[in-house]
Amino acid sequence: MDHRDTYFHLFRFPPLLTSPCNDLHPHPFHPPSHFADAPDQTSIRDLVGIAAGDDVAQNIAFDVVEAKDWVKATLEDLVPVPAGRFVVHGSHDRARVPPNKLAIEIEAALAFGTGHHGTTRGCLLLLDHVLKAWRPRRVLDLGTGTGVLAIAAAKALHSAVLASDIDPLSVKVAQENARLNVSGPLVQAIPATGFSAPQFGQRRPFDLVLANILANPLRQLAGPMSRHLAPSALVILSGLLTPQVTGVIAAYRARGLVPLRHVKIDGWSSLLLRHTR
Ligand code: SAH
Repeated sequence: MDHRDTYFHLFRFPPLLTSPCNDLHPHPFHPPSHFADAPDQTSIRDLVGIAAGDDVAQNIAFDVVEAKDWVKATLEDLVPVPAGRFVVHGSHDRARVPPNKLAIEIEAALAFGTGHHGTTRGCLLLLDHVLKAWRPRRVLDLGTGTGVLAIAAAKALHSAVLASDIDPLSVKVAQENARLNVSGPLVQAIPATGFSAPQFGQRRPFDLVLANILANPLRQLAGPMSRHLAPSALVILSGLLTPQVTGVIAAYRARGLVPLRHVKIDGWSSLLLRHTR
């Protein structure tokens, strides 16, 4: 290797794209794979041939790309994300944050939530909106990932936020991010699936719950969620593809929550609901 990475393209040319998607995607689908060392092209063609057929295997193109600091290049692509009063950024952009914004510094790592995804940004925009007119006392961020939403709420309110995640690694990342971003122990991150941890019972009733998960778990959580809410509590839900909104709203309406606002970003929907019981 002469300080270059071997670059390997897998092209799937139109004869293989026989589904109706052809009409939507007239261009060949070509996911690239990168190898640190020159790969054995024959073995790769053989393997791809077994998995995807000879036509695909024969259309693989191999190329070489210049050496590059890929981590640095990827971080540079992660530009700061503004969302209302908040801006989420990596450490490489610390100096670029406007002074009038509430900065949340999150390094791209193993947990979800750098702010770049439409669901995170939708939640931040709705959080910014509700905080303009109201100050919730008990806040929960369920499915916290990097802790981004809990940190945003704690920074904006200067008060305690409970954060939880089913994934212990995310809990650890959220704790570290909270330490980095919020002065004092305002964010408590705990491992839990849904509402199955004693801390939820101890800290309820919540005035504001943020839950950026996915449509199915959100539908299943409608019952336990409603039992942990204060009267007139607000709930911000995200992780829904826009066609899933009706089903999720129906599940929450059945538990006494009504939709107030709907933010759509990149095909993802974020909802603001109010508890009416
Ligand atoms: N709140 C962050 C991360 C959202 S990603 C943001 O808005 O960017 C969704 C997170 O929910 C993941 O970290 C995932 O591990 C967690 N999760 C998924 N299902 C869950 C469940 N049933 N209970 C708790 N956390 C869950």
